[in-house]
Amino acid sequence: MAFDYVIVGSGFFGAICAYELKKRGKRVVVLEKRKHIGGNVYTETRDGINVHVYGPHVFHTSDKEVWDWINQFVTFNNYRVQTVAMYEGQAYSLPFSMWTFSKLWPEVTTPEQAKEMIKSQAWVGEPQNLEEQAMQLVGREVYEKFIKGYTEKQWRKSAKELPAAIIKRLPVRFTYDNNYFFDIYQGVPIGGYTQIFDKLLQGIEVKLETDYLQNKDFWDTQGTVIYTGAIDQLFDYEYGVLEYKTVEFDHQHLEVENFQGSAVVNYTQAEIPYTRIVEHKHFEFAKTASTWITYETPVEYTKDKEPMYPVNDATNNAIYARYKEKADAKNILLGGRLAEYKYYDMHQVIRSALNFVNSDRIAL
Ligand code: FAD
Repeated sequence: MAFDYVIVGSGFFGAICAYELKKRGKRVVVLEKRKHIGGNVYTETRDGINVHVYGPHVFHTSDKEVWDWINQFVTFNNYRVQTVAMYEGQAYSLPFSMWTFSKLWPEVTTPEQAKEMIKSQAWVGEPQNLEEQAMQLVGREVYEKFIKGYTEKQWRKSAKELPAAIIKRLPVRFTYDNNYFFDIYQGVPIGGYTQIFDKLLQGIEVKLETDYLQNKDFWDTQGTVIYTGAIDQLFDYEYGVLEYKTVEFDHQHLEVENFQGSAVVNYTQAEIPYTRIVEHKHFEFAKTASTWITYETPVEYTKDKEPMYPVNDATNNAIYARYKEKADAKNILLGGRLAEYKYYDMHQVIRSALNFVNSDRIAL
């Protein structure tokens, strides 16, 4: 065989496998169906700004080993996620904190008052759907202004039809702290994410615009395959199409220095079609004369669309289990968010790939 491993996909999972296996003297080739490496983490420099092409990505972890590993390849800045929620032309702070509550109810300034206010509006009883569950957690007003419209746009369903389980926990803080994450290590790579993949794949044969599935029989003879693409596609949707929530990105260049003053602004009203606008320069505090922004609009998922967030309900999980069983029976090596039908943050997929290359699934 020409290679020890044929790695399908150049996102974090595939690129880490390629890097670590090459380091151990294995012959590897990476197949990538897109025009570029990096998977969904890919950034592209436009007018001096690193644009997060497949959605905004902020790194956060408390896993020191993962943090040390990624810092071999890149230096992070000190960006912290502090989102703005826009409702009827008013800007509020997210996640829900004393900053949100004191703006919503100007008479509320202490945690005790905020708790009282929420309690006075809370839904009481055993919640039967997402609406009731959310109103139980944060009260009617916070739900109606910040959760209802946003959630219904994202899921393209009424909140009354959505299961309560989706929203069992909501980040609510009774402190004046609007940092989204509590992780010890957080930031965005200075210079964007793509350089990480350039380094990981340095000296490795990478075949761009090469879809493994279009020439599967050939590639299967070239080495042991590690597959990081969609598992339902691998088996030609034999047991059905796995469902995803997905969005369309509309990237725009504006001759404006500072469009919205924040990297991410969520639009929580149902009548505004997009869920958020991303202004990329703020991730790296870029000092440029113009700006790049992205409108994110949820669309119905069909198998020709980009799969984004898996819908891990009972039906989809059962379909996935059948695919997984079939893959295991054939000894196929799978990894990453699409092959495992699992939402992974970046630090989690890195951890998973590092564990995988050190497991007995990989022949040394
Ligand atoms: P991917 O990055 O999807 O890589 C898979 C690769 O395989 C792709 O390049 C694909 O083109 C290729 N491929 C698929 N099929 C084939 C085939 N047949 N032949 C050849 N190539 C193929 N995580 C965070 O930690 N912080 C964030 O802020 C964050 N924001 C996110 C925002 C959005 C909108 C989304 C959807 C995810 C976000 N994530 C975030 C998660 C992050 O994107 C994932 O953790 C990461 O992309 C997973 O890497 P992966 O290698 O599993 O998959």
